[in-house]
Formats: sequence, C-alpha cells, structure tokens
Amino acid sequence: QSQELSQVQIDYHAALQALVEDGTRMVCTGRMHTDRICRFESLCYSTEAEEFVYFHSNSSVMLPNLGSRRFQPALLDLSSVEDHNTQYFNFVELPAAALKFMPKPVFVPDVALIANRFNPDNLMHVFHDDLLPIYYTMQQFSDLDLEARLFFMEGWGEGVHFDLYKLLSNKQPLLREQLKTLGRLLCFTKSYVGLSKITTWYQYGFVQPQGPKANILVSGNEIRQFTKFMMQKLNVSLEESSSEEYIVVFSRTINRLILNEAELILALAQEFQMKTITVSLEEHSFSDIVRLISNASMLVSMHGAQLVMSLFLPRGATVVELFPYAINPEHYTPYKTLATLPGMDLQYIAWQNTNKEDTVTYPDRPWDQGGIAHLDKAEQDRIIKSTEVPRHLCCRNPEWLFRAYQDTKVNIPSLIHVIRQTVKSKPGPKKQKWSGSLYPGKVRDAKCQASVQGTSEAKLAVSWQIPWNLRYLKVREVKYEVWIQEQGENTYMPYILSHQNHTFSENIKPFTIYLVWIRCIFNKNLLGPFADVLLCST
Ligand code: UDP
Repeated sequence: QSQELSQVQIDYHAALQALVEDGTRMVCTGRMHTDRICRFESLCYSTEAEEFVYFHSNSSVMLPNLGSRRFQPALLDLSSVEDHNTQYFNFVELPAAALKFMPKPVFVPDVALIANRFNPDNLMHVFHDDLLPIYYTMQQFSDLDLEARLFFMEGWGEGVHFDLYKLLSNKQPLLREQLKTLGRLLCFTKSYVGLSKITTWYQYGFVQPQGPKANILVSGNEIRQFTKFMMQKLNVSLEESSSEEYIVVFSRTINRLILNEAELILALAQEFQMKTITVSLEEHSFSDIVRLISNASMLVSMHGAQLVMSLFLPRGATVVELFPYAINPEHYTPYKTLATLPGMDLQYIAWQNTNKEDTVTYPDRPWDQGGIAHLDKAEQDRIIKSTEVPRHLCCRNPEWLFRAYQDTKVNIPSLIHVIRQTVKSKPGPKKQKWSGSLYPGKVRDAKCQASVQGTSEAKLAVSWQIPWNLRYLKVREVKYEVWIQEQGENTYMPYILSHQNHTFSENIKPFTIYLVWIRCIFNKNLLGPFADVLLCST
C-alpha cells in the first residue's frame, strides 16, 4: 500500500520545505459545524496520536477562525449524520517549527476526501450516509475527481460492502488502521474534510424519534444520476428493450423472515400475471441484484436495509414494504420517504401484519437480535401484550428490537388487497412521458389603472405580460394568482385568473392605496415567484 502512495512522484525536499514555511492552510464552507466542509493544504495526521495536526507558520490560513468555539462542540461533522458526538472532527495545533522534532512527514500526493462512514455493515446506511454523500461531495469540488483518494477515519474494517465504496474513485480507499503502515506523520498535500448532507432524507432518531429530515433538498433526479453512475461502474446496463415484466421479492435469510415466501411468490405471480423472483444479499451478487431490480415492476420486501435498493428501481415501479406485527409503518419511513421523493416516480405501499397468530417472536435471543429475556418479568409481559411499539429514540429500545426481529407469515389476501388499492391494473414501470416540473418566472410589465365612480365605488384595472420562460415551454395550463391588499391591512383578497388582465371592482374603495401581488402558476401546483409589488392608488 505504501508504494501506491508514491506513484505520483513528488519532490520530497521541496514538499517538506513548503510545509515548514507555509504551514497548513484551511478554508471552509458552511456557517456551523453541521454544514461545514473544509479544504486543506498540508493538513497532517499523526498515526501515533491518532490526531490531525494543523501547523502554524507565517503563511497559514484558518477560516473560519473560531478560537475555542472550534471545540463547541467541533469544527465539523466527519460523517453525514448530523451532529453525532462520535463523528466530530478537529485538529491539534503546533508551530511549524515543531516539525524539526517530529517524525519525518510522509506526503500523500493524491487529493484526499477525509470522512467517516457511519455504519458500513448496513446497506441503508452505506447508501444514505456514505455513498450518496461522498458522490455529491465529490461533485461539489472539482479536484475531487476519479483520481481522488478516500480516507475513512471511523476506525472500522472494510465491512461487507467495501466494493461499493471502491466504485467512487479509481484509487483504493484507505482505512484509519492502514495509515499506520504508511508512516508516523502523514501530510495530505490537498484534502477535503467532511461530507455534504444535501442528499440525505432521513434522521435516525438520536434526538427525536426517527423520521424524514425536516428540510429535504434532494430529488429523484439527483438520486438517479447517482444510480446511473453506480450502474456504469458495476457494468450493469439499463435494458430499455427488455419486454418481460416481473416482480422481485427481496428476502432476508437470517432474521425478520417471511415464513410463507413460496406461497407469497405464487400469489403475486398469479394476481399480477407476472414472473416473480426472489433475491437476497446472501445468495446474489450485488450486480445481479441491481440488474434485476433496475428492470423490475414491483419490489416486495420486509422492512429493512435491503429496501434501500429501491434506489435502483425504474420510474413507475412499485415498492411494497412489509412490517412485522406491532410495528406502525408510519413510524419507520426511510424507504417510504425515498420512494416518494419528488421525481423518484415510485409508488409506495406499506403492509403491516395485524394478526398476532401470524408472528413468531424470539424473546430468548441476545438483546441485539431482539431478545427480551434480560428484562424484568413485568417489562417482558408488558412488551408481549403490547399491540404497538410506542415511538422511541434510536438505537437500543428493546421493545422495538423485539418486534423488528419477528418472523411473519404474510396474510396473502390482506396484502393483495392493500396492493390493489394502489395498483389497479398491471404494476409499472410505465413509459412515462417526462413530466419535468419547471416553474414559471415572474410576470412582466405589471400595470394598474384606477378609476373612481362617485364617492363610494372604484375600479382597479390590472394587466401584466407572461413570464419570460413561458414562450419556450409547452405548458398544459397557465393561470395567474392575484392578491389585492389594502395598504396597512394584514389580509388580502386572492383571485385565480386565466387572462393577463382583469378589472377588479368588488371591495375596491376610492382614495385608497392597494398593493397588488401577481404570480404565475403552471399546471395547478407549480407556483412561480411574485413579481415586484404594484402600488395602485384609487
Ligand atoms: N441482512 C440481510 N439478511 C438478513 C438480515 C440482515 O441481508 O437476513 C442485512 C440487512 O439488509 C442490512 C444488514 O444485514 O444490510 C444489517 O441488518 P439489520 O437487521 O441489523 O438492519 P436493518 O435491516 O434492520 O436496517
């Protein structure tokens, strides 16, 4: 591995001299530790201290220069999980002169992206917390290209999905443990530290019960750009022409089982008149699973990390998530949120087992597999009698784990019934025409003209021009929304209009100033911006 780093020849003495003279330079984006990514030149890492080191010299730069606020609580989050106290990044400071007394630095010539993986053994976490954020962090900074090298500092081993991380760059990612073999003091010539959170859609319940993030900023388009990249790297081609439609049942083989899987597959095949196949992470290669899912009409699976693979479903497909007894589907929605992101164009259906006879519990297993034998008897009884797991925080709630690791005999008629409520004929993928949602611009040249009739009546004639971008678009329906507000009042009268002018006479008083707000609306729900407010005096 150490040979790999020296592939790019660097002039060692020049590099060392530059480090001593220039020290470390850091410029960051973001206002808070939770939205910060920092770019460094000559950031170092002591593999003995397991600390990053910032060297001060005459030319060093540290922006933001937070003083001791750098420790309140940290400079930045090293993973994409927000403000998690095991994922903080900071460095220790030294004068560059101290380098004289330190181990000889080993320079890392590759542009580095330094980050933490959050839970590399769980496929949902791999995609949501690591792969998508890494991919889009690399898109954000142009020198993080395919020749960049990823450094994972969380301290875990490769994990079962390491091959996926390798797809993101042409260089082998390095783990914290491996840095020791490279040297005692590593200096990254150029590095970025931290991950963009812009693509994440779910919070796991560390401070409030789990649920969709408050302000989701990603759409299906960006998700699909990412999956297209991954499929290219996996050598999975999108088979546009493949005609046969089929359903995929994604099964788990170790726990949270579907007990009547054969019956389920037959029932789905018969109901929808489609071939129905099973896949599992244990029995199929990752590429095979991606290939199968990327052409499927429907994906059926127990709640669980494997459902993140619906990332790869084609537009128009249906996701059916099965929940064990006493687990309220509304409380665990990472896959529902994914499927219903704007532009993902997937149909989402949740089914829950509501029959106690159809569930198999495992009270005697270890606690992390849902066992409850370690709890006192009263608590065990309460859990066994309970019909719904109350909302809870992550990650060790025994009642949640007990219910999450049940096996389920799926009640076929009830499942078919809920699917049929949404999927009326054959399930997707439909060759949908592009329903790209483009928003109108501002209306232009808005004008008003007032006329007064007598002492109590007045009229307000308002006109405007179409938004500039409309002339280049085919839009099914164009409407205008006009708000008329008397100056100084909090309320306004709203109107929806089809034409570019209208004379208002209702409730218009003479010798009054009105504020007129106008915006364009495409296809009922694509609301444009308001034009500059018009001041109209009657
Ligand atoms: N897993 C699997 N088959 C199983 C059990 C688990 O493939 O029978 C995978 C699962 O998809 C996830 C990882 O193993 O990637 C950890 O599973 P766990 O039950 O801990 O997490 P969950 O699926 O509930 O998120």
